[in-house]
Amino acid sequence: MKEIDWSTLGFHYTEPDYIVRSAYHNGVWEEPYATKDKYLHLHVSATCLQYGQEAFEGLKAFRGVDGKIRIFRWRENAKRMARSAEGLYMAPVPEQLFGKAIRLALEKNMDFVPPYGTGATLYFRPLLIGTTPRLGVGPGRDFEFIVIPSPIGPYYPGKFHCTSFIVNRHVDRAAPYGTGTFKVGGNYASSFRATEAAHAQGYDCLFLDSKYHRYIDECSAANFIGIRRVAGGYEYLTPRSSAILPSITNDSLMTLAREKGMKVTRRHIRLEELAQMSEAAACGTACVISPIDQVLDPERNKVYRFGAEPGPVLTDLYHALRDIQFGRAEDKHGWTEVIES
Ligand SMILES: *Cc1c(COP(=O)(O)O)cnc(C)c1O
Repeated sequence: MKEIDWSTLGFHYTEPDYIVRSAYHNGVWEEPYATKDKYLHLHVSATCLQYGQEAFEGLKAFRGVDGKIRIFRWRENAKRMARSAEGLYMAPVPEQLFGKAIRLALEKNMDFVPPYGTGATLYFRPLLIGTTPRLGVGPGRDFEFIVIPSPIGPYYPGKFHCTSFIVNRHVDRAAPYGTGTFKVGGNYASSFRATEAAHAQGYDCLFLDSKYHRYIDECSAANFIGIRRVAGGYEYLTPRSSAILPSITNDSLMTLAREKGMKVTRRHIRLEELAQMSEAAACGTACVISPIDQVLDPERNKVYRFGAEPGPVLTDLYHALRDIQFGRAEDKHGWTEVIES
């Protein structure tokens, strides 16, 4: 086991021993291999640098209560990366190759899988870039797929807590039929003006739809969930939009919510509807659920409040998903690939 203080490990990059790489030339992917070299020998005119041909993913492996390692829903990440590749005119990484690279990255970095009970996990960052040198505008023909693993500390080192969000109508994250549904770096670069402005004021950013600035799209790197009381229970609400990323965490939580008897609805959600919700949150691989205590709309001089403590419905869903990831609850849906170690 590595000399790593897992409890103080932040939510940032810790260099692993190995990364995994596979290049694509002449229509063929090379066998993925592990290397300690974290630098690329990349042509300065590569299409990823010149024209933003880049997509990425994010997923985790968990050391369970039984000592086994579980990789969570990696096939969904592989499928999503293939869609992102199509979206940016890149060669998709075959699912089998994606899985092989993730497992190799895990095997070569076993010492970096945090022990059970620390709340820390091994995060994988798959990356796909265009590598063809090309100054004339156009897509490349050569690509590289890379998996960068990194142990990361618990998202909530203290207790499960809330975050405040702010709305910004002056910066759009992605166009209605642009690249918002793809997990690409360009969406992040274009959102930094809004997210950094929000952070400077002590908030995270809640993006509205780019066309009308009327409907909730998503949080900067996470989907939005609202909980509403309805006759006989609760409704799980999440936005329908042509500009948001289909979150695998959100998909998993919707399944769990249905199992708990909740009504699950995906539709356009107007910002003002926050007033009718009893709980709200951001969701994604990093945090699972990040409950929201308030959403500030400075231009309309409105604040939507949900209370300083995470609500009961989202807290319950948070624990339900984490229990599956850490092997404390039965994985009925086959979401985890168990690696014997
Ligand atoms: C990655 C990401 C999410 C969360 O997706 P998960 O699969 O749940 O991790 C949500 N929104 C954006 C914009 C993202 O890039």
